[in-house]
Amino acid sequence: MSNESEEAKKEEAAKSQEAKGQGEKKLKGWKDIPIGGKILEPGNSVGYKTGAWRTFRPVHKPELCTNCMICWMLCPDSAIKVGGVNDPNKGHKGVSDKPNLGNFGGFNLDFCKGCGICASECPFKAIEMHEENEFKD
Ligand code: SF4
Ligand code: SF4
Repeated sequence: MSNESEEAKKEEAAKSQEAKGQGEKKLKGWKDIPIGGKILEPGNSVGYKTGAWRTFRPVHKPELCTNCMICWMLCPDSAIKVGGVNDPNKGHKGVSDKPNLGNFGGFNLDFCKGCGICASECPFKAIEMHEENEFKD
């Protein structure tokens, strides 16, 4: 095989790799990281979804929930949402069917790491931890 055709193949492979990477966030190399690993863009953690390696997933039991929001206060990843709009739990104890910032609004699974603090601290046992492999999504 000639050098020219080898070069052309390499170029094509590089282009296809580039196309695959389109839309994906480009990771910084070590030379791009500020000295001391300082974070220069405040609030940037929202751009990094950190729930992918979760082993256990919290599951809400609306019939037991009183909207005390202790889980919201204690979640280290701010992964408890508020404001249960069109709450499917309508009719259950303490849960409003109207948007309300004081209501439990579900889990943000993009950021929940499955630590289980919410489940162990909920005074009403309204959160259970289940193995992640029980879920299809
Ligand atoms: S701690 Fe338990 S009862 Fe309180 S809002 Fe969370 S799930 Fe509901
Ligand atoms: S399992 Fe941990 S990270 Fe996930 S919602 Fe509960 S307290 Fe937050």
